[in-house]
Amino acid sequence: MPSSSPYPSNWKEISLELKKKANWTCQKCGRKCIEPGQKVPQDWTVSKRMAYTLQTHHWDRDPSNSSEDNLICVCTGCHLDLHRGYRGRLSNVSEGQLSLFP
Ligand SMILES: [Zn+2]
Ligand SMILES: [Zn+2]
Repeated sequence: MPSSSPYPSNWKEISLELKKKANWTCQKCGRKCIEPGQKVPQDWTVSKRMAYTLQTHHWDRDPSNSSEDNLICVCTGCHLDLHRGYRGRLSNVSEGQLSLFP
């Protein structure tokens, strides 16, 4: 079945490997993010959990370019900052929308 996703089929593995290598730490601000399976305090709100979620950013914003030097692991806040500076499609992206670009 043809897929319209620009991400490579092994994108999940690629980003997971990268996040492991980064030790689940934001490479911009150094924030330690939540590891998979890690329990967070019950009083954490969704947005707090979101803020401690590590994401993978493409420097050239091309999800099909998954070479390591095109990728950086950042927390949600830094990810938003990275996109805020850009003009175009993702410039007005909200936190919720960003979760679509893990
Ligand atoms: Zn950060
Ligand atoms: Zn990004």
